[in-house]
Amino acid sequence: MNFYYECSECKKTFSGDEMMYVCPDCSSEQKPGCETRGVLFIRYDIEEFKSKAKNIFSNKGNRDFFKYYELFPVKEIDNVSRLDVGNSPIHKLSEDLYIFDDTRNPSCSYKDRASLLTAAKALDYGVNTIVAASTGNAASSLACIASSLRGLKCILCVPENAPQAKITQMLMFGADVVRVKGTYDDAFELSLRLTEERGYFNRNTAYNPFTVEGKKSSAYEIFDVFRNDMPDNIFIPVGDGVIISGVYKGLEDLLKVGILNKMPKIVACQAEGSSVIADAYKRGGEIVNDPKASTLADSILVQAPRNSIMAVDFLKRYNGDSVKVSDKSILDAMQELASSSGVFSEPAAACAYAGWKSFKKKNNSKQKDLILITGNGLKDIQSAQKQVSMPQPISAMDYLKIGK
Ligand SMILES: *Cc1c(COP(=O)(O)O)cnc(C)c1O
Repeated sequence: MNFYYECSECKKTFSGDEMMYVCPDCSSEQKPGCETRGVLFIRYDIEEFKSKAKNIFSNKGNRDFFKYYELFPVKEIDNVSRLDVGNSPIHKLSEDLYIFDDTRNPSCSYKDRASLLTAAKALDYGVNTIVAASTGNAASSLACIASSLRGLKCILCVPENAPQAKITQMLMFGADVVRVKGTYDDAFELSLRLTEERGYFNRNTAYNPFTVEGKKSSAYEIFDVFRNDMPDNIFIPVGDGVIISGVYKGLEDLLKVGILNKMPKIVACQAEGSSVIADAYKRGGEIVNDPKASTLADSILVQAPRNSIMAVDFLKRYNGDSVKVSDKSILDAMQELASSSGVFSEPAAACAYAGWKSFKKKNNSKQKDLILITGNGLKDIQSAQKQVSMPQPISAMDYLKIGK
C-alpha cells in the first residue's frame, strides 16, 4: 500500500518514495547514547486503509503476514520472506487468561516481525546490504530473515558481551558479525557510520521507521481472533519501547477507521532494574535515562530506550498502565509458565507474565487478560538453569531399588 512518513514529534510529513530514517528537524537534537529523536510513523490514506482492512478482516483463515500484507507498506510481495513469521497461537490458560505465543517465530523471537518488513523494504529500495546494531535478538532475527532472501547480505554490529546463543544464531545464519569493543552505543554509532558512508540499509530499532510498523502485525492477529470482544488488558514486556508502540499503532490504525471499537488497556512490564519507560510514565512523561540499568533479562536491559518518547506518548493518550517486577519474580514466572503451559520463555518475555501476576494482586476484578510471550527460553538457558537443579547421574539398577 502507498504510504508517507509522519514525524511522531513535530507531525511534519514526508513522501515515502525515498528511504528516510528520522525527522531531519527533530533528530538535530539527537545526542549520542540517548533516545532516538524524531522517530517516523508510517501513514496511509485513511480511506484506502479502511476499505482494505474491512475486506481483510471479513475473512477468516490463517493469520500469517500474507493475509495482512496489504495493510503494510510493501511494494513487491516477492521481496517478503516466505518464512512463517507470526501466525502465532493464542493459548487459553484459564477462564480469563490468554497468552500470545511468539516464541515459535523462525528465529524464536518477536523481532522477526520487524525484520520481515525491514528486509522487504531494503529490497524494495534496491539495497542489498542491511546493517544493524543490536544486543541480540534483533540481530539474530535479521540474520535469519536475510538468509531466507537470496542476495540479501547482513552486517551485524553487536557489543562484545552479547549473549553467546544469539551470536551463534547470527553466525549459523551466515551473517557478518562485528563484535564491537565497548557497549551497545558504540555498536550503534558504527552502524550509523556504515549507513552514511557505504549506503547500507539500517535496521536499528526505532531509528528505522519500519521496525515499529513491522511490530504492529501482532495487533492484527489479536484483533482477528477476538474481534470486538478484545482482552481488557494486554501485558507487554518493554525495553526500547518498540513492541508496545507497534501494538498500539496497529490497534490505533483499526480504531481510527471504526473497525476496532475500543482501545484495550496496555500494561508496560519492565524489570525493576531497567525501568526508564515505566518510571517516565508514572512521572507524567519526563524521560530520565539510567546509565546504571541492570537486569538478567538481557533483551529488556536498556540504559536509554530508543523509542521512549513514542511509547510514553501512547501510554498517556490511551491511559495505559505500567508495572515493575524483580529479577527473582521474572525467574519464578518463567518456571511457572513453562511448567503449567508448555511455553518456555526467555526472561524478557517472562517479565510480562510476572507483570500480569503483580497487576492481578492489585486489580483482582474479573477481566480478560492477554500476555505477549516474546522470546524463547532456549536463547538463555543459563537463566533457566538458576531455577532447576541438574539431577546426579544414577545407575538404572540403583534407581529401581529406590522405593516407588
Ligand atoms: C526486544 C525484546 C523485547 C522488548 O521490545 P522493545 O521493542 O525493545 O521494547 C521483549 N522481549 C524480547 C524477547 C525481545 O527480544
